[in-house]
Amino acid sequence: MREQLKQKETGLIKMEFRGISRRSFLKFCAATAALLGLESSYGSIFAAAAEEAIKKKPVIWLQGQGCTGCSASLLSSLNPGPAEILLDMISMRFNTTVMNGTGHVSVQVLEETFKEGNYLLAIEGSIPTEDSRYCIVEGMGFKELVLKAAKNAEAVVAVGTCATYGGIPRAGLTGAVGVSEIISDKPVVNIAGCPMNPSWLMGTLLYYLSFQELPALDKTGRPLAYYGNHNIHETCPRVSYYENGQFLVDWNDPATSNWCLLLAGCKGPVTYADCNRNWWNDGVSNCIRSGAPCAGCVQPQFYKDFSPLYAPLFTPVTGDKGGEKPAPAPAEPAAQTGGLDAKSVLLGVGIAAAPLVANKVANSLKNKKGEVKRG
Ligand code: SF4
Repeated sequence: MREQLKQKETGLIKMEFRGISRRSFLKFCAATAALLGLESSYGSIFAAAAEEAIKKKPVIWLQGQGCTGCSASLLSSLNPGPAEILLDMISMRFNTTVMNGTGHVSVQVLEETFKEGNYLLAIEGSIPTEDSRYCIVEGMGFKELVLKAAKNAEAVVAVGTCATYGGIPRAGLTGAVGVSEIISDKPVVNIAGCPMNPSWLMGTLLYYLSFQELPALDKTGRPLAYYGNHNIHETCPRVSYYENGQFLVDWNDPATSNWCLLLAGCKGPVTYADCNRNWWNDGVSNCIRSGAPCAGCVQPQFYKDFSPLYAPLFTPVTGDKGGEKPAPAPAEPAAQTGGLDAKSVLLGVGIAAAPLVANKVANSLKNKKGEVKRG
């Protein structure tokens, strides 16, 4: 392994010319390993696998009914930054937001990549089902294009809540649905969020390209390590105020600005994502820390069933002593683990999976070098 890592030095050093230091990249890989419940030493393994695999993996990124917010979120990531993601870590063959080519040149690249096959297909935005004219991309209905693109794809990544569950467009008239509602013969991973946190996408890509399989998913198709294991309410810095029955009701009252945001519309009790440990904008903050209630944007119920966003999810009961007492958080089914193998379950739980994953990584990297033949 040491020799293998040494061979990757050249590539990692090359990244410094793109504005990202080797140290920053390794730090990102170590952080990703930690978020996936692995020891930080696995960061080096991820870095090696990324150098070997990610550069060679073509990605097609199609955009349907959405606001491009998830592309903006990805392009706002700092470590790694957009240039490193697009030029060094993946081979982005088609993305209407960032690509230089237009017209028949870009369509030709798209068609050639379709023929080559074995690419990753990323879908941003929802898919209209009522009438194809609601969303025409490259001269065809978006649903038709997605089905065509999925045919030779290795796996499909639904990026953002519009693509995963229909999102805000689902509340409209276009019959908007998520990717997994029209693609059933390919592995689909849902990176939900409005927008998604870029580290969720990059971590999932690193995992896939290291292990050649998707990470363990929760019952709604999201990586368990980033979503299903983390209830926003249980990890919230304001939870003690919830337990004391102290709820913000007046946005203009500075004395209550740190109190629980339940009555301001917080959907934290029924929302599952690691926002409270994996802060946004390169670790700057997150919604609740910034004073905004959780909108539940990673859940399938968003937006239609969670609106109005600033209406309380439920009302705390009044206690015998006259003061407001919080109602217990509504029961939410635990993260789905049924149907997963033992390795996947352990990975979602955390560090206990390290030895098993270590073997998997080692075999994966050996296979790439041809040291061990695949069975
Ligand atoms: Fe935090 Fe929202 Fe729960 Fe209040 S209801 S403790 S703000 S997650």
